[in-house]
Amino acid sequence: MASEHVDVLVVGAGLAGIGSACQVRERMPGSSVAILEARGAIGGTWDVHRYPGVRSDSDMYTLGYSFRPWSRPEVIAEGAAIREYILDTARERGVDGLVRFHHRVVAAAWDSATTRWTVTIEHGADTVTMTCGFLFSCAGIFQTERGHTPDFPGMERFAGEIVHPQQWPESLDWTGKRVAVVGSGATAVTLVPALAEKAAHVTMVQRSPGYVVAVGSRDPIADLLRKVLPGRVAYPVLRWKNALFALSFFRLARRRPELVRRIIRWGVRRQLPAGYPVDKHFKPAYDPWTQRVCFAADGDLFRALRSGRASVVTDHIDTFTERGLAMASGEHVDADLVVTATGPSVVPFGGIALTVDGARVDYADTVTYKGMMLSGVPNLAIGIGYTNASWTLKIDLTARYVCRLLAHMRDRGLRQVTPLAPGPEVPLAPFVDFGSTYVRRGIASMPRQGAVTPWRLPQNYARDVALLGRGPVDDAGVRFR
Ligand SMILES: Cc1cc2nc3c(=O)[nH]c(=O)nc-3n(C[C@H](O)[C@H](O)[C@H](O)COP(=O)(O)OP(=O)(O)OC[C@H]3O[C@@H](n4cnc5c(N)ncnc54)[C@H](O)[C@@H]3O)c2cc1C
Repeated sequence: MASEHVDVLVVGAGLAGIGSACQVRERMPGSSVAILEARGAIGGTWDVHRYPGVRSDSDMYTLGYSFRPWSRPEVIAEGAAIREYILDTARERGVDGLVRFHHRVVAAAWDSATTRWTVTIEHGADTVTMTCGFLFSCAGIFQTERGHTPDFPGMERFAGEIVHPQQWPESLDWTGKRVAVVGSGATAVTLVPALAEKAAHVTMVQRSPGYVVAVGSRDPIADLLRKVLPGRVAYPVLRWKNALFALSFFRLARRRPELVRRIIRWGVRRQLPAGYPVDKHFKPAYDPWTQRVCFAADGDLFRALRSGRASVVTDHIDTFTERGLAMASGEHVDADLVVTATGPSVVPFGGIALTVDGARVDYADTVTYKGMMLSGVPNLAIGIGYTNASWTLKIDLTARYVCRLLAHMRDRGLRQVTPLAPGPEVPLAPFVDFGSTYVRRGIASMPRQGAVTPWRLPQNYARDVALLGRGPVDDAGVRFR
């Protein structure tokens, strides 16, 4: 039996897949589109993560889609509200009906003779195939089934419960318990104050400090603009305001790290009582924005620390004991529940095995083209967001670019577009210049970037607006057929 064929096949029904499918539907109305989703739900990250306090740390004017204003008053939103926003968008745009749940793409093979991808899909116990003219991979970079838990010595001895935030049991009750949260990333920073509301005590156990900045969950400028301007005007203004602010903060951090260190430290000092060992727990060894900066909505982490319901221990875990964690310094953290907020497992591009005309593609051997296609791989786009700004800013631009590219090909009768690798004179660098532990764990299997446009991944929204939003789709970096 012939495989079903669509013009554009989107992999993943998360924030990126749903947003991209909406744009393809709207901008390429004659094209057939399907979305393959491994799980049984829409929302990706925002459906998987259900731990207490789960929320964005980006503002929702930039994490929301350009084409559908975020209309709620809070700018830092809870996970459930983001999930609802993605679902509502899918329903409103008629894209929910395009999703085929429990369809995991395991392989995709490009054939230049037929100018088609043949996609191999696991669907329950069955393996099925589909073909498509263009493959748009919006599979994220995290494994959705389980997070990353290092092998701490003695874990098996611990008499209490060990939970990873990514698999938070719905029935878990931590009321009156002593909780240790291992980690210092965004998840730990949101979990600690949320758990502290009911726990006897929460200890954030971190190997080394990270940057934490208190931000308001409401934005007074946004409240004002939304009052005086219609939503369709206020939203893009706020989106640009916040995108440019984030970009300026990032660039300042890269150019004047000492100054930004001092500003962040000043902010932390103001939040904590006199005499608090700020440098011990909140002075990282790395420069700001060489790893992601964490945000505490309305300073909730600091409030929990001030109240005495939470505390921080900065030390190496020597071993788990029956009663908690023995630290290298000799200190013991008593715990009934240990939460390993030790990050996600990274699986680039949904773990899909690619071949082009029979030859296997190793992602690590490819070079990104404009941060959204891969050298030598025809008719494939990857929806991957920024590390230094909201994911969706890049996804929106990528989807728009894909639509312009598809329209260009349709109008000229072209069937294949292949990004070229740069010449040997162009130095190559890792995919992202970012030191977060989960990025370091996955970087070896990621493509590389070139030092010059169009192979450079600038991580710069303003530049990408010019490059992806308005730049030519037929530059010298691609070959059409
Ligand atoms: C707790 C948490 C908080 C975050 N907060 C922010 C934030 O504030 N700002 C920000 O910019 N980013 C944040 N991020 C990053 C976040 O991942 C992105 O914002 C965004 O949600 C990613 O969307 P996505 O659709 O690209 O990927 P995902 O949300 O991971 O969705 C990918 C989807 O693809 C499916 N899939 C994967 N592989 C396959 C396959 N082979 N076949 C079929 N389907 C497949 C998955 O099941 C999943 O549903 C956060 C991440 C986490 C974990």
